[in-house]
This record gives sequence, structure tokens and C-alpha cells, in this order.
Amino acid sequence: MHGIAHGAATVPAAATSFAGRIVAWQRAHGRHDLPWQRTRDPYRLWLAEIMLQQTQVATVRPYYERFLARFPDVPTLAAASEEEVLTLWAGLGYYRRARNLHAAARAVVAEHGGQFPRSVDALAALPGIGRSTAAAIAAFAWDVVAPILDGNVKRVLARHAAVEAVAGSAAAERTLWRLAGERLPQSSADMVAYTQGSMDLGATVCTRGAPDCARCPVADDCVARATGRSAELPRARTRPALTERRGRFLLLTHGADVAMVKRPGQGVWGALWCLPELPLDASDAEIDAIAARFGARALGARQTLADVRHRFTHFQLTFATERIACARREPHAAEPGVLWLALDAAAEAAVPKPIAQLLRRGAADETSAS
Ligand code: SF4
Repeated sequence: MHGIAHGAATVPAAATSFAGRIVAWQRAHGRHDLPWQRTRDPYRLWLAEIMLQQTQVATVRPYYERFLARFPDVPTLAAASEEEVLTLWAGLGYYRRARNLHAAARAVVAEHGGQFPRSVDALAALPGIGRSTAAAIAAFAWDVVAPILDGNVKRVLARHAAVEAVAGSAAAERTLWRLAGERLPQSSADMVAYTQGSMDLGATVCTRGAPDCARCPVADDCVARATGRSAELPRARTRPALTERRGRFLLLTHGADVAMVKRPGQGVWGALWCLPELPLDASDAEIDAIAARFGARALGARQTLADVRHRFTHFQLTFATERIACARREPHAAEPGVLWLALDAAAEAAVPKPIAQLLRRGAADETSAS
């Protein structure tokens, strides 16, 4: 390997290849106890990869175990209702992942006879599976030699080779994919350790805030380290300020029951159960009309609950909630897509996290009042 030139600094080549050092380090010091490391079943590997997107390992673990207990294989997941899949996903966030997971399971059954395809391209054609996730599944399941490029790997490569392009830009993506492709191991027998090691290095050593270069297996020829720039790289993009949105919801109660509505499949909290949303300037007549959809009449006392703030990827939502007790209602909701649920059961259903928290508080109030 040649030295890497960076401005005035030339970093000496290391004695063994980048991949060789990562593989040896992973075998000695990497993570070995994650539940999805004990399998070569592409279904389990795929599930873990999807759950781990934008989500910490500690958060994923219980969801992963619960999900597999209910859906142990692709046909079981494909045969389930979307409702049930979303219920098991509730609280993990980024619900499009769950809808894509379900759609991909159905595609594997319908188009591939229930077996995951072994090529990276065919995997990447399934809903919700990008090029990097496809490569990780193929490497872990079948030792396929293909590069991954998740957030951890991007950070390591951007520092190790001092990539100057701004993170997330097309130029950075092109350079990082090229670097990832060039550094692959020669032998497919090393792919599991290399792929896992690349992830582990970014997650545990070359971390975002404080890279621990003294413990790093590729420190010898790391340009960022040699030039004192590990804190600067990768170059962050300037993010536009989060836009602020306001919302208003209706917590319509009857005894210990709450009125819930199913949201449309697309958009924010798509296909989840939620409280009915109110226009910000909804009049009493509009609130009465919504209550009528639930067969509710004779509205009782109204109470405005404290504002709740919830952060999405691109905006910040602050919502107010009007709690209104119904003196009486029909036994069943009046139309499809709306229903009455016991407050504590609603909090455990396929509902968005801030709504579940609000419902749990409502259930606690009910308990303390009774
Ligand atoms: S030497 Fe430091 S900056 Fe370079 S890859 Fe290793 S941990 Fe990251």
C-alpha cells in the first residue's frame, strides 16, 4: 500500500491491509454478543439491519426479540396484517420502515418463493432495502463480498482518508462508495468479520464526538489522526433550522374509553391509530361533528392539556390536546377507521409514541380518580 498524501502531510503505509487490520481487530475486540450475530438466517439479519437504522442497539434489542417471537419467519410476517406489524413496531419510530418491512416480506413470498434472493441487486430491489443494507445482509448470510456504507462506516472512511467533501453531498457519497469498494477483503471468508468490524469500529472507537485513536486498528495510516483533524471530519453539512408546526388533537373520552382514528397510509404517522386531529381554529360545532363520527353526544366538561413537543426529522411539532368527556355514546363508533378503545389498551396499540405517552397519562388520571 502506498502512503496517503494529504496537503503537506504524508502518512506512512501500514504493514497490513486496511481490511486485514479491521478483521483481526473485530475477532479480538469487536462485538460478539448481539442477538443478530448468532444467526446466518437472512430474515433475522434483515430485520436487525432495518431496526438498527437510526436506532440504538439497546433500543432495538427488546423489539427484535418480541418481533421474532411473533413472526419467526418470512411467511408468518407476510401473512400478518399491517395493523399487527405496526403494533409490534409502535414506539420504535420511523414507521415507514415497518410498512416497507411488511411489503418486502410479501414480495419475498410472492416473487422469490419465500427465500431471500442472494444477489445484492435483487435484495436492494425489495422495499426499504438500500444498497448498504443489501450488502450487509448478503455478507452476513452468505459471505458475499460487497461494500457497506452506513453512517458509522462513512465516518471512519471520511476520517481515515480525509475526505473533504461535505457529508451527505453527492461528491462525498461517490468518494466514500469508491473507498469502501477499494478496501474490501480479498477473501469472502473474512466478510462477516470485516462487515461487523467496520460497523463496530465506528460505533465504539471512531465515534462521532470523541474518536479513541489509541485503540484504533487503522490509526497508523489515518490521515485525520496524523493531521489532527479527527474532530473536524467528516465535514458537517449546515442543516436548515427545523421548521415549527402546530397541531391540535381531541382526546374524547367516555368512562375509561378513548376515541381513536386510523391515519391515512401516507404521511406523518401513516396508518397508525391516533387521536382525531382538529383544525387549529376548530369551532365547537366542528368538535361536535367529530364527536358525532364516534356516535358521541352530550359533550361534558372540556379541558386543554399542556402542550406536547415532538421532534421529527425535518420539523418540530407542538400540539395541544382538548380533553372532552362524553356523557353518552352509541355502543360502537359510527364509521370504519374510527373506534373506541380502553385508555390503557389504546396506549399499547399501534399509536405514535407521544400519543401513547399522553394516553398513559390519561389512564393514570382515570385510575387515580376512581
Ligand atoms: S485513527 Fe482515530 S480518527 Fe482515524 S479512523 Fe481511527 S479512531 Fe477514527
